[in-house]
Amino acid sequence: MYTGIPASPGIAIGKALVLTKKKVASEKKTVTDVTAEKNRFHQALNAAKAKLDQLIGQAYAEQQKETAAILETHRLILEDPDLLAKVETEITEKKVNAEFALEKALGFYIELLAGSDNAYFQERTADLKDVLSYVNPFLTGEEEIDPFPIKGKCILVAPELTPSDTARLPLNLVQGFITESGGPTSHTAIIARSLELPAVVGVARITAEVKNDDLLIIDGGEGTVLVNPAPETVETYRKKERALRAEREALSALKNAPARTKDGKTINLLANIGEPWELTKALEYGADGIGLYRTEYLFMNRDTLPTEEEQFEAYKEVLTKMEGKPVVIRTLDIGGDKNVPAIGLAPESNPFLGYRAIRLCLADRNLFVTQLRALYRASVYGQLRIMFPLISSIEEYRSAVKIAGEVRLALIKEGRQIGCHVPLGIMVEVPSVALLADVFAKEVDFFSIGTNDLIQYTLAVDRMNERISHLYSPFHPAVLRLIKMVIDHARREGIEVSMCGEMAGDPRLTRLLIGLGLQSFSVSPSSLWTVKKEIMKVKTKPAKTFARKVLLQSTAAEIKEYIETKA
Ligand code: PEP
Ligand code: MG
Repeated sequence: MYTGIPASPGIAIGKALVLTKKKVASEKKTVTDVTAEKNRFHQALNAAKAKLDQLIGQAYAEQQKETAAILETHRLILEDPDLLAKVETEITEKKVNAEFALEKALGFYIELLAGSDNAYFQERTADLKDVLSYVNPFLTGEEEIDPFPIKGKCILVAPELTPSDTARLPLNLVQGFITESGGPTSHTAIIARSLELPAVVGVARITAEVKNDDLLIIDGGEGTVLVNPAPETVETYRKKERALRAEREALSALKNAPARTKDGKTINLLANIGEPWELTKALEYGADGIGLYRTEYLFMNRDTLPTEEEQFEAYKEVLTKMEGKPVVIRTLDIGGDKNVPAIGLAPESNPFLGYRAIRLCLADRNLFVTQLRALYRASVYGQLRIMFPLISSIEEYRSAVKIAGEVRLALIKEGRQIGCHVPLGIMVEVPSVALLADVFAKEVDFFSIGTNDLIQYTLAVDRMNERISHLYSPFHPAVLRLIKMVIDHARREGIEVSMCGEMAGDPRLTRLLIGLGLQSFSVSPSSLWTVKKEIMKVKTKPAKTFARKVLLQSTAAEIKEYIETKA
């Protein structure tokens, strides 16, 4: 049995499909026979072209014209005489290996295009990076994740799966995920929970231990993986699977029940969404509104940025389908573990602390203005609220508000219809904002506590790093104190405060959060009923006393134990 981090509950029993991932950077090596190295390069190039031809044919056969066009551009790049000459010169003159020479030559063009003022040229950098991933596997012998290898039902086993990988996979065939890296609040784990697919992350060396077609059992709630188990074990897990399914079905009775505490206090129970299917689930599971719409998914897995019109249609759809219920749409939050190749972010040593989210939007005015225009135009279709991610100072918030005001005014001047009041709020996910919650509460219209990032920044624990995931804890007293501060100041100033991080969907914490004064929870659609069930058990006054006592404990372990034992 292999043990990892429980990322998404449930049992999956199925055949393994092992995906190995493209290498990011090539190691520099000295070669003695440059002719042989150049031949090796051309062989890899031909193999990559043949692979691309096959993918292009497949894309046409599947009516995926856009994909085919992108792949054709990639193939053309592989034939570019200047690029090929640069690689050959690099091998001949510097006596370096082909992978390194290719990366260096592409790097030259990537830099050139990235430095251009022209957005079209800037966007082409993503194509060049993709090209590298076609040739490299044939040089290094490592396979990259092929977007089309999944032909039947399977359990995916991979070193890592990024949000854009998961968005490309035919998820109807995937029974579960096992990855070597990632933490419980990595976006892949969040997506797995949302899809209700069992997942275990942080299983060291699992891609080396498992072969394609091995029979696997995932227990996502326990964080365990079994390889080629005995038939009796399979039967035991099938029983557990049936019991879990029955439990889930029983919960569905709560769909239309109001989210109300035992003593009659109404709690707002909202949904987090990103992909369109999550909106369908939010509606199916009876959410009171959308507390977080992660718009970055609209920008992933494509070669160009979505236009204002495309974005407008997407936002309009969510607002219309929610029929007047509140919808919080977050402006673009890329960076960290969410990459948008069309923007072509340069690699950084600390991406979670880097050029991302609101920082990028404030620096790239066109990108931000396009999104804000689409949002304001869509605002006539429902109860829209706009939320800015990763705010860390009041100046940043003011700059964002200023641009939003200008966009609003410009649209009015153009004679466009926009909603009469669109509240502007922020994610509270950086400790500086929680510490200044009293100041922010006087300026913003609402707070939404993003505990996924707030925990990692408060405790200095990378939410993606499986080696330190034991240090990443929602029970940590420092985290709870910050949350209390934010709720208290919001209530004092009379602004709304919600929580949209994964903590809000953890049923072990519902009573505590209500005791801390939280009245609005935004959770993955799949957690709506579980949390509602907990809300219905809570009595507000005792919950407050309970929260006070919890805050008297000094360690995460003490708090966890206190919560588990004090019913
Ligand atoms: C958070 O940080 O808590 C959050 C909800 O945002 P994301 O998970 O998209 O970073
Ligand atoms: Mg965040």
